[in-house]
Amino acid sequence: MPSDHELTQSIALEPRLRTALVVAVLLAIVPPLTYAMVSLGYLGAHAAFVAELQAGRLSKYIYTHEKMWRYQKVRLAEILELDDAQLSVTGLSIYDADGKQVLAVGLRPGTLSLTRRAPLVSAGRQVGWTDVSLPLTHLALEVLTLSILSTLFGISAYFARARPLHSLNRAITQLEDFSHDLKTRTAQLYEAQSLGRIGDWSYGFGDRTLWWSDEIYRLLGYDRASFVPRYTAVMAIYAEDGAEQLIQSQKQARKTGAVSTVDLKVRRGDGTIGQFAITTKTRYDDTGKATGIYGTIQDITDRKEAEAQLEQLAYHDPLTGLANRALFQRHLDDMIGRCARSGSGGALLLLDLDRFKDVNDTMGHTIGDALLVKIAHLLARTLGHDHFIARLGGDEFAIVVECGAGGPDVESIAASVLESISGTVFLEQVEIAIGTSIGIARVLEHGAGVTELLRNADLALYRAKEEGRGRSVMFEPGMDDAVQQKVAFANELRTALHEDAGLSLHYQPQIDLASGRVTGFEALIRWTHPTLGNIPPSVFIPIAESSHLICDIGSWVLRHAVVQAKAWLDAGAPPREMAVNISVAQLWSTDLVNDVGRVLAETGYPPELLCLELTESLLVDQEETRVRSVLKALKQHGVVLALDDFGTGFSSLGYLTQLPFDKLKIDRIFIDGVTASGRRTELLRGIIGLGRGLGMTTVAEGAETPEEVELLRELGCDVVQGFVYARPSPAPEALTFALRQDAAALSAPQTAPSQPVSPRRAHG
Ligand code: C2E
Ligand code: MG
Ligand code: MG
Repeated sequence: MPSDHELTQSIALEPRLRTALVVAVLLAIVPPLTYAMVSLGYLGAHAAFVAELQAGRLSKYIYTHEKMWRYQKVRLAEILELDDAQLSVTGLSIYDADGKQVLAVGLRPGTLSLTRRAPLVSAGRQVGWTDVSLPLTHLALEVLTLSILSTLFGISAYFARARPLHSLNRAITQLEDFSHDLKTRTAQLYEAQSLGRIGDWSYGFGDRTLWWSDEIYRLLGYDRASFVPRYTAVMAIYAEDGAEQLIQSQKQARKTGAVSTVDLKVRRGDGTIGQFAITTKTRYDDTGKATGIYGTIQDITDRKEAEAQLEQLAYHDPLTGLANRALFQRHLDDMIGRCARSGSGGALLLLDLDRFKDVNDTMGHTIGDALLVKIAHLLARTLGHDHFIARLGGDEFAIVVECGAGGPDVESIAASVLESISGTVFLEQVEIAIGTSIGIARVLEHGAGVTELLRNADLALYRAKEEGRGRSVMFEPGMDDAVQQKVAFANELRTALHEDAGLSLHYQPQIDLASGRVTGFEALIRWTHPTLGNIPPSVFIPIAESSHLICDIGSWVLRHAVVQAKAWLDAGAPPREMAVNISVAQLWSTDLVNDVGRVLAETGYPPELLCLELTESLLVDQEETRVRSVLKALKQHGVVLALDDFGTGFSSLGYLTQLPFDKLKIDRIFIDGVTASGRRTELLRGIIGLGRGLGMTTVAEGAETPEEVELLRELGCDVVQGFVYARPSPAPEALTFALRQDAAALSAPQTAPSQPVSPRRAHG
């Protein structure tokens, strides 16, 4: 490529053309001019010679005829000795001393001519002169002809010189345009390379030299002066196994002749690592022989970082920053492969937070989210970087434990996770009880694929939740069947509820010991399974409780029981209380308070005749403030609150006394066999005394014999609910019993049922 300077020099056309023009003009002018000058000189000399010659001859004659010569024209003409031929090309005039023409011969006057003069002398004195004229017409013609020829020659010479110069000029102009274009394009290319962070390189097989463009030096941060791109030096800048990969890529390019690209990590001049895409292509000569390789190096660090960010987005949970389900599955799959190859063990731990849904529903998603983040931190702190943690969605987390030789066993890892996720945490000044259940499945032993492992860990998790949460359970073969059955049950129960088929309520009367009258009923749910028949609530209620189903069932029971009680009232029955069991899950997950208010408003049932039974277990593990506020809100509706199954939970008496319960339902275990044991009688006396002392109505559950009823009356118990009076039964029978019992009480009040009424044995 010529430089700008060279180009400007090579195209100095104007002076050359000017020179050509000057040469042409000189060629046109100089020869005729020279010829004319020389010819004139010659003619002048000739004319002067003739004039001198004739003057000599004449002077001689004049000397002898001094007086008369002026009048002797004929004689003078003879002396001249000019014949006709000479006189046609020569003119001669003689003048006397006074300038008077004496004789004129030859040329016609007016002919273009050249004249030379010579004096006529006689006795040393000038007596006149003679003019000799030679015609110039011929010379003028010659000079004209010569001028025309010279001009033609000059013009030819000019064009002979100028044409190639013009062609050259055109070529140069084109070259100049091309060069300008090329320069622009080259600049654009450099700009594009710089923008695209691309540099080019080449390597010749012949001289074995590697060439780097300036852009490569710039991109890699090396100095051209100090870094010579020699083989060993260049190979050393590739990090990890980059050099090996590059060699493979270049071999590929040589083998196929196509472009080969490889992304590598390269150590820059300042020691930092960048990511570069290196392309290689083979260069061939005309004979098809490979002469070298060349290609580009592009800085793709930004792109790789963006890809990493995308990967982060695609494979991580945005809330907690933990791996998401997609990455978890990939990791678990890899781990299973590693375990299979190495024979080492591994395990999958599935975590499900206890009562997370309650937190979310009652405290809002912001706190719910904050809790998930907190749990993620707790997990990360407990497990460090040793194990893989993922959030699978909702409140489900997974831990992939890779147990190498000498590492802690899975159970102790699960134990430390349980310990870290327990107790209470404070989030935005709110105290939240946390806990988790864990299901564990061992890699290969409990599943050789992701799906199988996940399913088995899930089964173990299900069992853990069922066994009371806050624990870990290892998968066992056989769990599958049991759980499968429960899952099937849950689905069938859901169908029964949604289709309102198979679910019904039975009512068990409650008898006031003082009056002997039926003062209330407890509504107890019954499920008739399409193929298995009656399923006891002790079986299906826990299943419903391990999912959200219990809340829907609770609403269904509440509505049906209240509608029934209202129907009885409307039919003219005396006012009796209707007791409905409320599950803990209902208390936390649904808007129970509004639900109760809505049912009361819609049915018009008196609130003071609705009793809500809450089990003592609800008080365990829950935040006191929340329990208190829900109970207070329920009380504001005017309903009665009963503490069910009293004595089976572990709540502190101090705590119980602060809650607004109206009734204490003493659990059956305190009644069963009480008449046979003095110690148990004392225990029961204490419980009844406690209830009375707190101003609560005491209700004894599960009295089966008249003796038990008698003892309860003695101990001061208010109400009895037991098979001794009636089993739970459908509404018509329950009402029939109540009418009969009330009638009997009227005739013989305050008597224990000496002949306990045994309604048709109902299931339950
Ligand atoms: P619970 O609320 O303590 O209900 C009393 C249970 O004691 C009933 O069992 C009743 O049939 C039984 N029972 C009453 N008297 C006697 C007796 O003299 N001897 C014996 N052996 N048992 C007696 P059931 O109907 O099987 O209900 C069991 C539990 O299932 C209930 O205990 C309650 O916790 C739960 N449950 C029943 N219906 C519902 C419901 O609608 N919602 C909720 N959340 N739980 C319910
Ligand atoms: Mg109950
Ligand atoms: Mg009970």
